[in-house]
Amino acid sequence: MPELPEVETARSLIADGALHRRIADVDDSDTFVCRPHSPGELRDVLTGRTLTAARRRGKAMWCETSGDGPDLGIHLGMGGRIVVTTEDSRAVEGGGPRRRDAQPRKAEWDRFTLKFADGGSLVLFDKRRLGRVRLNPGIDALGPDAAEVTPAEFRDLITRGSVAVKARLLDQSKIAGVGNLLADEILWQAGVSPVARTDRLRRADADRLYRALGAALDSAITRGGVHTGDVIQARHPGGTCPRCGAEMRHGTVGGRSTWWCSREQASPAGVQG
Ligand SMILES: [Zn+2]
Repeated sequence: MPELPEVETARSLIADGALHRRIADVDDSDTFVCRPHSPGELRDVLTGRTLTAARRRGKAMWCETSGDGPDLGIHLGMGGRIVVTTEDSRAVEGGGPRRRDAQPRKAEWDRFTLKFADGGSLVLFDKRRLGRVRLNPGIDALGPDAAEVTPAEFRDLITRGSVAVKARLLDQSKIAGVGNLLADEILWQAGVSPVARTDRLRRADADRLYRALGAALDSAITRGGVHTGDVIQARHPGGTCPRCGAEMRHGTVGGRSTWWCSREQASPAGVQG
Protein backbone atom coordinates (compact mmCIF):
# COMPACT_ATOMS: atom_id res chain seq x y z
CA MET A 1 0.00 0.00 0.00
CA PRO A 2 1.38 3.41 -0.87
CA GLU A 3 2.79 5.24 2.12
CA LEU A 4 4.30 8.71 2.24
CA PRO A 5 7.34 7.88 0.03
CA GLU A 6 5.20 6.41 -2.77
CA VAL A 7 2.80 9.33 -2.69
CA GLU A 8 5.69 11.79 -2.66
CA THR A 9 7.13 10.09 -5.74
CA ALA A 10 3.76 10.49 -7.49
CA ARG A 11 3.46 14.09 -6.34
CA SER A 12 6.90 15.07 -7.59
CA LEU A 13 6.13 13.36 -10.90
CA ILE A 14 3.08 15.59 -11.32
CA ALA A 15 5.00 18.68 -10.16
CA ASP A 16 7.78 17.97 -12.66
CA GLY A 17 5.70 16.94 -15.63
CA ALA A 18 2.01 17.80 -15.48
CA LEU A 19 1.75 21.43 -14.35
CA HIS A 20 0.78 24.32 -16.63
CA ARG A 21 -0.51 22.07 -19.43
CA ARG A 22 -4.00 22.96 -20.59
CA ILE A 23 -6.61 20.31 -19.85
CA ALA A 24 -8.53 19.60 -23.06
CA ASP A 25 -10.69 16.72 -21.81
CA VAL A 26 -11.25 14.56 -18.75
CA ASP A 27 -12.32 10.91 -18.51
CA ASP A 28 -14.21 10.80 -15.21
CA SER A 29 -16.58 8.01 -16.22
CA ASP A 30 -15.57 5.67 -13.38
CA THR A 31 -18.33 6.56 -10.94
CA PHE A 32 -16.81 4.46 -8.13
CA VAL A 33 -13.37 6.07 -8.20
CA CYS A 34 -14.86 9.53 -8.77
CA ARG A 35 -17.66 9.25 -6.21
CA PRO A 36 -19.54 11.31 -5.07
CA HIS A 37 -19.15 13.21 -8.35
CA SER A 38 -21.39 12.29 -11.25
CA PRO A 39 -19.89 11.55 -14.69
CA GLY A 40 -18.98 14.78 -16.42
CA GLU A 41 -18.83 16.86 -13.26
CA LEU A 42 -15.03 16.74 -13.03
CA ARG A 43 -14.74 17.20 -16.79
CA ASP A 44 -16.92 20.29 -16.76
CA VAL A 45 -15.04 21.99 -13.96
CA LEU A 46 -11.48 21.04 -15.05
CA THR A 47 -11.56 21.38 -18.83
CA GLY A 48 -9.74 24.52 -19.96
CA ARG A 49 -7.80 24.86 -16.71
CA THR A 50 -4.24 23.85 -15.86
CA LEU A 51 -2.80 22.20 -12.77
CA THR A 52 -0.74 24.88 -11.02
CA ALA A 53 0.75 23.02 -8.03
CA ALA A 54 0.96 19.47 -6.65
CA ARG A 55 0.64 19.21 -2.86
CA ARG A 56 0.77 16.40 -0.32
CA ARG A 57 0.12 15.83 3.35
CA GLY A 58 0.80 12.31 4.54
CA LYS A 59 -0.77 9.98 1.99
CA ALA A 60 -3.19 12.66 0.75
CA MET A 61 -2.30 14.36 -2.52
CA TRP A 62 -4.04 17.13 -4.39
CA CYS A 63 -3.43 19.54 -7.25
CA GLU A 64 -4.32 23.21 -7.30
CA THR A 65 -5.91 24.42 -10.54
CA SER A 66 -5.83 27.69 -12.45
CA GLY A 67 -8.39 30.46 -12.39
CA ASP A 68 -9.51 29.85 -8.80
CA GLY A 69 -10.55 26.35 -9.79
CA PRO A 70 -11.13 23.60 -7.23
CA ASP A 71 -8.40 21.43 -5.79
CA LEU A 72 -8.22 18.04 -7.48
CA GLY A 73 -7.64 15.30 -4.90
CA ILE A 74 -6.06 12.06 -6.11
CA HIS A 75 -5.72 9.21 -3.61
CA LEU A 76 -3.68 6.21 -4.73
CA GLY A 77 -5.70 3.68 -2.70
CA MET A 78 -3.90 0.37 -2.17
CA GLY A 79 -1.73 0.25 -5.26
CA GLY A 80 -2.55 3.08 -7.64
CA ARG A 81 0.11 4.69 -9.80
CA ILE A 82 0.27 8.01 -11.59
CA VAL A 83 1.31 7.91 -15.23
CA VAL A 84 2.22 11.21 -16.88
CA THR A 85 2.69 11.18 -20.63
CA THR A 86 4.60 13.94 -22.36
CA GLU A 87 3.47 15.56 -25.59
CA ASP A 88 5.82 13.25 -27.50
CA SER A 89 4.27 10.17 -25.80
CA ARG A 90 6.98 9.39 -23.28
CA ALA A 91 5.41 7.99 -20.11
CA VAL A 92 6.79 8.34 -16.58
CA GLU A 93 5.21 6.54 -13.62
CA GLY A 94 5.22 6.78 -9.87
CA GLY A 95 3.23 5.68 -6.87
CA GLY A 96 2.50 2.20 -5.59
CA PRO A 97 5.20 -0.41 -6.15
CA ARG A 98 5.28 -2.11 -9.49
CA ARG A 99 4.52 -5.79 -8.89
CA ARG A 100 6.87 -8.37 -10.26
CA ASP A 101 3.90 -10.41 -11.46
CA ALA A 102 2.34 -7.37 -13.09
CA GLN A 103 0.14 -8.24 -16.01
CA PRO A 104 0.24 -6.12 -19.13
CA ARG A 105 -1.50 -2.82 -18.53
CA LYS A 106 -5.16 -2.91 -19.49
CA ALA A 107 -7.03 0.18 -20.60
CA GLU A 108 -9.84 -0.42 -18.12
CA TRP A 109 -7.37 -0.05 -15.25
CA ASP A 110 -6.99 3.62 -16.19
CA ARG A 111 -9.51 4.92 -13.69
CA PHE A 112 -9.21 8.65 -14.34
CA THR A 113 -7.53 10.62 -17.11
CA LEU A 114 -6.70 14.25 -17.75
CA LYS A 115 -6.08 14.71 -21.46
CA PHE A 116 -3.84 17.68 -22.14
CA ALA A 117 -4.19 19.93 -25.17
CA ASP A 118 -0.59 19.09 -26.15
CA GLY A 119 -1.55 15.43 -26.68
CA GLY A 120 -0.14 14.07 -23.40
CA SER A 121 -2.07 12.93 -20.35
CA LEU A 122 -2.14 12.28 -16.62
CA VAL A 123 -3.65 8.92 -15.67
CA LEU A 124 -4.55 7.27 -12.38
CA PHE A 125 -3.72 3.63 -13.13
CA ASP A 126 -5.28 1.43 -10.47
CA LYS A 127 -5.91 -2.24 -11.08
CA ARG A 128 -7.54 -2.76 -7.69
CA ARG A 129 -9.82 0.26 -8.10
CA LEU A 130 -9.34 1.47 -4.55
CA GLY A 131 -8.01 4.89 -5.54
CA ARG A 132 -10.18 7.94 -5.32
CA VAL A 133 -10.48 11.19 -7.23
CA ARG A 134 -12.50 14.04 -5.78
CA LEU A 135 -12.70 17.78 -5.73
CA ASN A 136 -11.54 19.74 -2.68
CA PRO A 137 -10.60 16.74 -0.50
CA GLY A 138 -10.64 17.47 3.21
CA ILE A 139 -7.28 17.23 4.92
CA ASP A 140 -8.16 18.93 8.20
CA ALA A 141 -8.36 15.60 10.04
CA LEU A 142 -4.72 14.83 9.25
CA GLY A 143 -1.86 15.54 11.62
CA PRO A 144 1.37 17.19 10.46
CA ASP A 145 3.14 15.50 7.58
CA ALA A 146 5.69 12.91 8.72
CA ALA A 147 8.36 14.51 6.53
CA GLU A 148 7.79 17.97 7.98
CA VAL A 149 6.93 17.37 11.63
CA THR A 150 9.46 19.11 13.91
CA PRO A 151 11.37 17.24 16.65
CA ALA A 152 9.36 19.01 19.37
CA GLU A 153 6.00 18.31 17.69
CA PHE A 154 7.00 14.68 17.14
CA ARG A 155 8.09 14.21 20.76
CA ASP A 156 4.76 15.59 21.94
CA LEU A 157 2.67 13.50 19.51
CA ILE A 158 4.55 10.24 20.05
CA THR A 159 4.45 10.32 23.86
CA ARG A 160 0.86 11.54 24.38
CA GLY A 161 -1.70 9.12 25.82
CA SER A 162 -1.04 5.45 26.54
CA VAL A 163 -1.35 3.40 23.36
CA ALA A 164 1.17 1.07 21.73
CA VAL A 165 3.76 3.22 19.98
CA LYS A 166 3.13 1.44 16.68
CA ALA A 167 -0.57 2.31 16.86
CA ARG A 168 0.43 5.93 17.40
CA LEU A 169 2.76 5.92 14.38
CA LEU A 170 -0.12 4.60 12.25
CA ASP A 171 -2.61 7.21 13.52
CA GLN A 172 -2.94 9.61 10.58
CA SER A 173 -4.66 12.22 12.76
CA LYS A 174 -1.47 12.51 14.84
CA ILE A 175 1.31 12.11 12.25
CA ALA A 176 0.31 11.75 8.59
CA GLY A 177 2.05 9.45 6.14
CA VAL A 178 3.35 6.41 8.06
CA GLY A 179 1.82 3.07 7.09
CA ASN A 180 2.44 -0.48 8.23
CA LEU A 181 5.81 -1.23 6.60
CA LEU A 182 7.29 2.17 7.39
CA ALA A 183 6.20 1.85 11.04
CA ASP A 184 7.96 -1.53 11.40
CA GLU A 185 11.09 -0.10 9.74
CA ILE A 186 11.17 2.99 11.99
CA LEU A 187 10.67 0.96 15.19
CA TRP A 188 13.36 -1.52 14.15
CA GLN A 189 15.82 1.25 13.19
CA ALA A 190 15.23 2.90 16.58
CA GLY A 191 15.33 -0.38 18.54
CA VAL A 192 11.94 0.31 20.12
CA SER A 193 9.34 -2.39 20.76
CA PRO A 194 6.14 -1.88 18.75
CA VAL A 195 4.08 -2.57 21.89
CA ALA A 196 5.95 -0.03 24.04
CA ARG A 197 3.39 2.31 25.57
CA THR A 198 3.61 5.89 24.42
CA ASP A 199 3.57 7.24 27.99
CA ARG A 200 6.55 5.04 28.92
CA LEU A 201 8.80 6.29 26.15
CA ARG A 202 11.78 8.25 27.36
CA ARG A 203 12.96 11.37 25.61
CA ALA A 204 15.89 9.41 24.17
CA ASP A 205 13.46 6.85 22.68
CA ALA A 206 11.35 9.61 21.12
CA ASP A 207 14.40 11.31 19.65
CA ARG A 208 15.73 8.02 18.26
CA LEU A 209 12.33 7.37 16.68
CA TYR A 210 12.35 10.85 15.14
CA ARG A 211 15.77 10.28 13.58
CA ALA A 212 14.66 6.85 12.35
CA LEU A 213 11.54 8.38 10.80
CA GLY A 214 13.59 10.90 8.81
CA ALA A 215 16.15 8.32 7.73
CA ALA A 216 13.50 5.76 6.72
CA LEU A 217 11.58 8.35 4.67
CA ASP A 218 14.72 9.59 2.89
CA SER A 219 15.84 6.06 2.14
CA ALA A 220 12.42 4.90 0.88
CA ILE A 221 12.05 7.93 -1.40
CA THR A 222 15.57 7.43 -2.79
CA ARG A 223 15.29 3.64 -3.16
CA GLY A 224 11.80 3.61 -4.65
CA GLY A 225 9.36 2.76 -1.88
CA VAL A 226 8.79 1.44 1.62
CA HIS A 227 9.32 -2.15 0.48
CA THR A 228 13.06 -1.33 0.19
CA GLY A 229 13.44 -0.85 3.97
CA ASP A 230 16.27 -2.76 5.65
CA VAL A 231 14.04 -4.96 7.83
CA ILE A 232 11.26 -5.58 5.33
CA GLN A 233 12.85 -8.69 3.81
CA ALA A 234 12.90 -10.24 7.29
CA ARG A 235 9.15 -9.88 7.81
CA HIS A 236 8.30 -13.56 7.34
CA PRO A 237 8.25 -16.76 9.42
CA GLY A 238 11.83 -17.85 10.10
CA GLY A 239 13.16 -14.38 9.29
CA THR A 240 16.15 -13.12 11.22
CA CYS A 241 17.12 -9.58 12.20
CA PRO A 242 19.45 -8.13 9.52
CA ARG A 243 21.40 -6.33 12.28
CA CYS A 244 21.90 -8.86 15.07
CA GLY A 245 20.71 -12.16 13.59
CA ALA A 246 18.08 -12.83 16.28
CA GLU A 247 14.76 -14.36 15.33
CA MET A 248 12.05 -11.96 14.20
CA ARG A 249 8.86 -11.97 16.24
CA HIS A 250 5.37 -11.56 14.82
CA GLY A 251 2.12 -10.29 16.26
CA THR A 252 -0.78 -7.94 15.68
CA VAL A 253 -0.21 -4.43 16.96
CA GLY A 254 -2.48 -1.50 16.22
CA GLY A 255 -4.63 -3.93 14.24
CA ARG A 256 -1.81 -4.62 11.78
CA SER A 257 0.59 -7.48 11.12
CA THR A 258 3.82 -6.52 12.87
CA TRP A 259 7.36 -7.93 12.85
CA TRP A 260 10.14 -6.99 15.25
CA CYS A 261 13.55 -8.18 16.47
CA SER A 262 13.16 -10.53 19.44
CA ARG A 263 16.42 -9.27 20.96
CA GLU A 264 16.81 -5.56 20.20
CA GLN A 265 13.13 -4.67 20.42
CA ALA A 266 12.28 -7.02 23.27
CA SER A 267 11.49 -4.61 26.06
CA PRO A 268 7.87 -3.41 26.10
CA ALA A 269 9.08 -0.21 27.76
CA GLY A 270 11.12 0.54 24.67
CA VAL A 271 14.39 0.44 26.63
CA GLN A 272 17.23 -0.99 24.62
CA GLY A 273 19.46 -3.87 25.68
ZN1 LIG B 1 18.16 -7.43 16.05
